[in-house]
Amino acid sequence: MNILVLNSGSSSIKFRIYTMPHEELVAAGLVEKIGSEEADIQVEFRGQRERLSQPVQNHEEGLQWIADFLTERVLVDSTLDAIGHRVVHGGEEYSQPMLISEEVLDKVNELAILAPLHNPPNAQGIQVSRRVFPQAQQVAVFDTAFHATLPPHAFRYPIPNKLYEQYGIRVYGMHGTSHQYVTKQAASFLDKPMSETNLITIHLGNGCSMTAVKNGQSVDTSMGLSPLAGLMMGTRSGDIDPSIPFFLSNQANMSPSEIDQLLNQESGLKGITGENDLREVLKLRAQGDKMAQLALEMYCYRIKKYIGAYMAVLGEVDALIFTAGVGENSDIVRERSLAGLENLGIELDVEKNQEHLSGIRQLQRASSKVKILVVPTNEELAIAEQTYQVLSKNN
Ligand code: ADP
Repeated sequence: MNILVLNSGSSSIKFRIYTMPHEELVAAGLVEKIGSEEADIQVEFRGQRERLSQPVQNHEEGLQWIADFLTERVLVDSTLDAIGHRVVHGGEEYSQPMLISEEVLDKVNELAILAPLHNPPNAQGIQVSRRVFPQAQQVAVFDTAFHATLPPHAFRYPIPNKLYEQYGIRVYGMHGTSHQYVTKQAASFLDKPMSETNLITIHLGNGCSMTAVKNGQSVDTSMGLSPLAGLMMGTRSGDIDPSIPFFLSNQANMSPSEIDQLLNQESGLKGITGENDLREVLKLRAQGDKMAQLALEMYCYRIKKYIGAYMAVLGEVDALIFTAGVGENSDIVRERSLAGLENLGIELDVEKNQEHLSGIRQLQRASSKVKILVVPTNEELAIAEQTYQVLSKNN
């Protein structure tokens, strides 16, 4: 079965084609700068990379380009059977991937109130795909779904009840597809049933989040109503005193949308150093830049605080899991985040930590009670797997 995985953002569409159930990656690519005369298109197919620039006015044109590329070059003798869509917010309704019906699509659109930056382009990707790929079955895989198991004492905010009842203001959590994928991989690596595995999963990409996983299920997570909460990120502040927006409004005369932009786009690593990419921050630090040093300390200190909190939440922890761009690649971040946690049973083997290997690997010392793993994430493959499972059940 050929499955196209689509991640439709506000100005970009990322795609991958897998043949399932063999998990064979057939082609991958992205269309960026949608809406411009010089959209950037990159594809990887049969070991070749190609890059071109051409006008792509909207998502319809972007997806049509992908459809033509697939029919003319990739799936010449076969058909596209299904599309798995990454959808950021599934609200309280969706704790599982869903075959897309009118009702599901309406709900994804309605949930834009909770994810105004993400759900509208996700919904648009679904709408356009139905026109461009009418023969393919469509499945939505929600980034919030893995966190549907959070208990009320973890997902409720201590604010008046009516705000939860009327607007659904609560913790939803994000990056669920990644936290779930690495949980499954780690349990299998540790040779334990997922239902008996306790983990702290640490996803450090441009966006960063951590999850406490008890018996294979998410019981707490650092992102909240939106992806702005929790850890310090590339451009997002993470947790701050909730009174800061009022201070900015009253003292700096900033509007709600200016504050939104400030906390989502101009804070985090970027706010402290001017750079949102951790590699650039580390380069500045190597040149002696004090702000880069401070940013690294802040970033790791917050990870450490969440590790402590989630150790307390879980009681017993089998392993800490580092994943995504920073988690998989940055030995410095891992080392700083875990320094001084020996009394909690977390002992990093500093030499193993510095080896640059690929695949799942263990980084703890032999005496460490808690294991420390790097588990590469693969959200696209996880979406392809879940899409395949939904269709196998429904057909
Ligand atoms: P996204 O959230 O966009 O999927 P990624 O998971 O690709 O992000 O992670 C991007 C982050 O990973 C960037 O901050 C980048 O600097 C960081 N990163 C990638 N490779 C390395 C590396 N070798 N060392 C340190 N940071 C890295």
